[in-house]
Amino acid sequence: MNGTQEEHKLSKLDARSCRLDMSKLTLTLTESPKELPPPETLKFGATFTDHMAIVTFHPSKGWSAPEIKPYSPISLDPAASCLQYSSTCFEGMKAYLGADGEVRLYRPDLNMRRLERSAQRLALPPFNGDDVLELIKRLVMVDKRWIPSFSGYSLYIRPTIIGTQSGLPVTASDHAILFIIMSPSGPYFPQGLRPVSLLAIRENVRAWPGGTGGHKVGGNYSPGFLPQQIASSQGYDQVLWLFGKDAQVTEAGGMNFIVVVKRDDGDGYDLITAPLDGTILPGVTRSSCLTLAGDPCFQQATSLRLHPMEQVYTMSDLTEWSAQGRLLEALCIGTAAIVAAVHKIAFEGKVITLPEHESGLGPVGVALREKILAIQEGRDEYQGWSVMISE
Ligand SMILES: *Cc1c(COP(=O)(O)O)cnc(C)c1O
Repeated sequence: MNGTQEEHKLSKLDARSCRLDMSKLTLTLTESPKELPPPETLKFGATFTDHMAIVTFHPSKGWSAPEIKPYSPISLDPAASCLQYSSTCFEGMKAYLGADGEVRLYRPDLNMRRLERSAQRLALPPFNGDDVLELIKRLVMVDKRWIPSFSGYSLYIRPTIIGTQSGLPVTASDHAILFIIMSPSGPYFPQGLRPVSLLAIRENVRAWPGGTGGHKVGGNYSPGFLPQQIASSQGYDQVLWLFGKDAQVTEAGGMNFIVVVKRDDGDGYDLITAPLDGTILPGVTRSSCLTLAGDPCFQQATSLRLHPMEQVYTMSDLTEWSAQGRLLEALCIGTAAIVAAVHKIAFEGKVITLPEHESGLGPVGVALREKILAIQEGRDEYQGWSVMISE
């Protein structure tokens, strides 16, 4: 960052104007609470809870008093920045109800720092992520009855910021709305733990150096809808995003991607994922998998000797490892699905197939998924990753 950008950032991050005054929170409860849908009917992000949180930013007044109120539409000027220029970013996180009846969030600080960075990248008004986290916790407790009480189920939380400046000049929005909506969720993929298929494509790229791929900004996603539709029409579940002439492997759909490769020195397995070079979304699940894989206690408990690696690898690497019988698992990882196995990857008319396992996931996938789920649901204490919400 150069000097002027730095100064600009500092002046915008005026300590007062980025705070949400939680002491002014108002709570309006719905008069018509919805009936809870049966958990087995839940589709990802299709049903929303009774309430939402909302707070608006005005350039001379800062953030308004936070509100929790019944879930309802938002009214916007047709010339609003977010509608015209996609000045919108979001987060995806979950609240879990443990068998002990306690509600927990998983590494929410990482989501808040990422939301701060995404908003900054779009020159949206600054805010204090810890205040937003406080608001999230209050909202979750208001709609606590919506958290399904089954293992593998949770309440998906979608904090969102939109630029609401009205007018067509192509400039930063200095008005914004920050809102939080929540959706009870079950397994991400309709087929549950069944492995997914990927179509690796060259025609479109998800992200590029200097772009916004490392941020959770709205504009990253809609350009992926058409490729996703094409992949679906050819019978594939997700797109595998590549980059560069050498077809570097980056991410799968809206998830990070990890492969498990048997080492040729006999010392266990390499767990390989693309490095955070600005084109890869720094996933909380990705970071968790890398940390766990490198943890001697985890390795011992699971009898898996793992070597986590963040490195560039290509479709020819995958093809070669597969031909050598060393490509054992490919995993899509993210908050929504946690860990999902891949059973085939199609690329330029050829198909790489992966070993299939009875449970859907291979040994590394199972170990990571079970451990992360246990931490999320409060059955396993690990480095303070799981944060209890106290009433
Ligand atoms: C959200 C997201 C991920 C996963 O991040 P988590 O923090 O693990 O949920 C990965 N890739 C993309 C493109 C994403 O939007």
